[in-house]
Amino acid sequence: MRADRREERQAAVRALLTSEGLGALLVTHLPNIRYLTGFTGSAALLLLRHDDAVLFTDFRYATQAPAEVSETATVEIDSASVWDRLKRYCADRPDDTVGFEAHTLTVRDAGRLKKCARRTTPVGELVEGLRTVKVPEEVAAIEAAAALASSALAEILPTIRPGQSELLVASRLEAALRRRGSEWHPFQTIVASGPRSALPHAHTTDRAIEAGEFLLIDFGAQVDGYCADLTRTVIVGGRADDRQRTVYEAVHAAQLRARQDIRAGMTGREADALARDFLASRGLADAFGHSLGHGLGLEVHEAPRLSTTATSVLPVGAVVTIEPGIYLPGWGGVRLEDDIVLAAEGPRALSDGLTDLVELV
Ligand code: ZN
Ligand code: ZN
Repeated sequence: MRADRREERQAAVRALLTSEGLGALLVTHLPNIRYLTGFTGSAALLLLRHDDAVLFTDFRYATQAPAEVSETATVEIDSASVWDRLKRYCADRPDDTVGFEAHTLTVRDAGRLKKCARRTTPVGELVEGLRTVKVPEEVAAIEAAAALASSALAEILPTIRPGQSELLVASRLEAALRRRGSEWHPFQTIVASGPRSALPHAHTTDRAIEAGEFLLIDFGAQVDGYCADLTRTVIVGGRADDRQRTVYEAVHAAQLRARQDIRAGMTGREADALARDFLASRGLADAFGHSLGHGLGLEVHEAPRLSTTATSVLPVGAVVTIEPGIYLPGWGGVRLEDDIVLAAEGPRALSDGLTDLVELV
């Protein structure tokens, strides 16, 4: 039986409310609401106070919300507007100072909140900060998602042939992911061939893959709400030429170095430099245009960041991606991405880490 962490998570937020001098926190970011209550629906507000928690949602979730939330919050259902419900609710018992999640609340909703409290104040990423440190069952869910992703890719890789479209490959991969139990695709699957692999955020098109080209596949899986995020780059229908091999081996070596040397206690910037400095030593710094990685959890992009501007320290228990890439416009690109937990004793791969060059001949 999995430990129920919701009460201890709410207690941790309440401790932060005390230190921030707040009477309550209005949680509006849905992954944070899920983290604190277990609610998985698409519309909710959570008013977390020192002595209670109230979840406001709409009629679509009248059955689901109480079942998911259980004893961790009182559920208020409104037939029309969760904000109207909050306003009526708070009229009976106004809170002194209600903090709100400034990074996700719209200006319009911040205006609505003003009518529900004597004073409102923006707060930083309080719940996200707690979410950065994963407990073993969260790590296990990410590891299960990564295993499922690797297995789905292993199934479809041998079926890829020159002449097939990127979309065909994506559709087969997505079907294999779903068949294995992935709850959803946490982001749009990227299948980018040939020169399109040089687009770090390519979308998948009907372009036919040509023999001897790179094929970059960036995809995810989700288990118990937790995301895995992998990228592999392979050669389709031939052997890598010298330039392809040189670029691939540089990214591969940079990724291995970062995977082995990253540690809790480093800053995100120091972790990013593990790969960036290596690629710079090969004269490839300019072709690595994005950051090394990002946190993984209930969201596919969450804290902490591994980037040249990330000054916060990586805590023990953080799960991050390591995904260096080299992109040469008009020619092609290589990205390799694995998922790593920063344990006290060192980094541990949650994904398979199978990044040796694969040539599908
Ligand atoms: Zn990715
Ligand atoms: Zn990623």
